[in-house]
Amino acid sequence: MPGGLRVRRAAGGPGHRGDAGRGLRGTGDVHPGHPRRPRGAAHLPQLARPVPGSVPGGDVALPPVCARRPHARGDGAGRPPGPGGRPGGGGVRPVRAAAARRARRRRAVRAAVCAPGLGVRVEEVPLPALEPGDVLVRVGAACVCATDRKIARGEHPRVPRGVVRVLGHEVAGEVVEVRAPEDELQVGDRVGLVPNVGCGRCAVCARGLDALCPRAEALGITMDGGFAEYVRVPARAVRRGHVVPLPEGIPFEEAALAEPLSCVLQAHELVRTGPGDRVLVLGGGAMGLLNALVARQCGAAEVVVADPHPDRRAAGRELGADRTLHPEELDASEDAFDVVVATAASPSAQGQAVRCAAVRGRVHLFAGLLSPGVVSVDTNRIHYRQLLVTGSTGQTVEHYRRALRMLPRLRPQLGRILTDRVGLEGLEAVLHGMEQRQVLKAVVLPWESS
Ligand SMILES: [Zn+2]
Ligand SMILES: [Zn+2]
Repeated sequence: MPGGLRVRRAAGGPGHRGDAGRGLRGTGDVHPGHPRRPRGAAHLPQLARPVPGSVPGGDVALPPVCARRPHARGDGAGRPPGPGGRPGGGGVRPVRAAAARRARRRRAVRAAVCAPGLGVRVEEVPLPALEPGDVLVRVGAACVCATDRKIARGEHPRVPRGVVRVLGHEVAGEVVEVRAPEDELQVGDRVGLVPNVGCGRCAVCARGLDALCPRAEALGITMDGGFAEYVRVPARAVRRGHVVPLPEGIPFEEAALAEPLSCVLQAHELVRTGPGDRVLVLGGGAMGLLNALVARQCGAAEVVVADPHPDRRAAGRELGADRTLHPEELDASEDAFDVVVATAASPSAQGQAVRCAAVRGRVHLFAGLLSPGVVSVDTNRIHYRQLLVTGSTGQTVEHYRRALRMLPRLRPQLGRILTDRVGLEGLEAVLHGMEQRQVLKAVVLPWESS
């Protein structure tokens, strides 16, 4: 829908000038789970466990994957169907809590279990045991992102081969069991989860920058996540406000997008995107398109999306980018931009981001690189143009809350970005589709069949 990005920033809407991002400048790291420091298997949390019937690092026989079904969904109110496939209706809260109790008696729930480098398969796993302070969330929706693909390929240093994990860090669902004080969260609350959880004791956590805590853990990355019927949220995440009640009327599959959107909000806060800015987004994947949408929300005068693939450029145009072009066209032109966001995880995109910045331009490295981020950059460009170069990873709880408030305004565009809806069995096919660029952004609905 041409012009879809042209939304004025609402008065009193999400601000982009807070303090939460201070200290991030120069961090060449990204989105949750981005490579930070290698961790050996010996340092992995106890949740890591072998796939039944396999040895760590050994071959895992994976079942054939069902074809993905584009439009399986729950009821119109955003509630996923109940265990029998029926949409949730009146009296659903006690029903869901009772279902969780039955699952606990049965001691097994369905989950898509990932063995990095080997693949994903759906199997019954133990229902997570809760400790004091924990909550159990019945997953309504969990979006799939490039980090999941990176882990599944065995390329993520925090989830090495030999470990198995339930992925899924972009999660929304319903609280069905609470071991925390009931006045904070109650059974039946519809919530979104902020996945990166800091230790709560260090100076970084004191500033609310949990994703940057040296001892941060992340749901769906270092802990089991949301590609399952239920996910356990540990006490420290609950205490630090990472279980966020959803505003009325937001369907789970839309709420799950608050996680990537919150990462983008933080990025544009750091580069101070504002009215009149000319903004270039390098990379037209789901994160690139979200960056383009947020740039417009910030009041950008011009939004340009560059991607080598024609279908991605077409998506950029549909979402209201003023121009789309091939990255090679940028080098041949004299175009310079006030804000450049590199969402493509490639050294060439990062080098190009610096080249394309105007005088006093702001450059944001949104995507991290697979290998150590050593890129050839003409630093005279930074010096003589007085550029600001930043990066970011994850989000804060405050950015997540802002993202939830922004979601309803972006609803038509998000519908274009979210291309695939699948059950747990469809996750493997979706990950493959992302490799082939056939899937832009997918959501897993664990209570649906693929
Ligand atoms: Zn993600
Ligand atoms: Zn900390």
